[in-house]
Amino acid sequence: MSGQLYIVATPIGNLGDISERAIEILKQVDLIAAEDTRHSNTLLQRFGINTKIRAYHEHNEEKVTQQLIQQIQAGESIALISDAGTPLINDPGYKLVVAAHDNNIQVVPIPGPSAIITALSASGLPTNKFIYEGYLPAKSEARKTRLNELRNESRTLVFYEAPHRIVESVKIMQEIFGEERRVTIARELTKQFEQIVRDKLSVINEKLESEEIKHKGEFVVIVEGAQEVSISDEEVLRINQILAEKLSPKDAAKLTAKITGKKKNEVYQLALNSEDNNN
Ligand code: SAM
Repeated sequence: MSGQLYIVATPIGNLGDISERAIEILKQVDLIAAEDTRHSNTLLQRFGINTKIRAYHEHNEEKVTQQLIQQIQAGESIALISDAGTPLINDPGYKLVVAAHDNNIQVVPIPGPSAIITALSASGLPTNKFIYEGYLPAKSEARKTRLNELRNESRTLVFYEAPHRIVESVKIMQEIFGEERRVTIARELTKQFEQIVRDKLSVINEKLESEEIKHKGEFVVIVEGAQEVSISDEEVLRINQILAEKLSPKDAAKLTAKITGKKKNEVYQLALNSEDNNN
């Protein structure tokens, strides 16, 4: 009979945030697969967990996944943990969970902390709709391109950021999103120097410059979404018709889409429908 794969969330700073169920499962399983065994040993020791532990990280994922699946098929139960928070959220584990599903192994989540939700809950920015972007690209040009693509996104945006990039990233955000857009910096959540600051991008930039917000530790950056502009089909058509006097239908639709925030195909379709109605 096959064992089970548990995906166990662990604290993102304050060890007191581990759940009773997480401790129970980590004691009970045959093996704990951990991103960094040395790092996780501190947590395991603190809660008197003596279960065998082995490394599972991005460099050995491929090989170890197969071995872990075979162990589970042989009847063992395994818990996956990462250095902090919920495994698979910018952490290893995806291959293992996919392989478990492919092999009809039951995957059991043991929920707990994740920096995304922890930061959002205290951000003072809308939480009803949000998108999680993870880390922005490391190179500045690629970072600008990605932020430009997100410029009209109306849902709240959640980013993870490294301490050595926080200043530059927030500067680029101001360039692209404008200085009035609100942002919350959530630093060192659940830890001794926790800092959660919400303000306009321009003010947050000043606070980073002056180091009122320190450039140390772990960061979640939450940015308010763009204001939704509602524009009627008639208005879209009118703009498109004016542009079409000088441009090809394709270029006019492209530019109309840029101006109105609509999709190019939508504009094109609107123009076609209107032509049909006029014929
Ligand atoms: N699996 C983790 C989770 O569920 O949140 C995320 C792992 S990811 C490799 C690490 C990043 O998460 C950090 O660089 C930081 O952006 C964010 N993070 C993790 N712990 C945090 C904390 N205590 N305060 C603020 N951000 C944190």
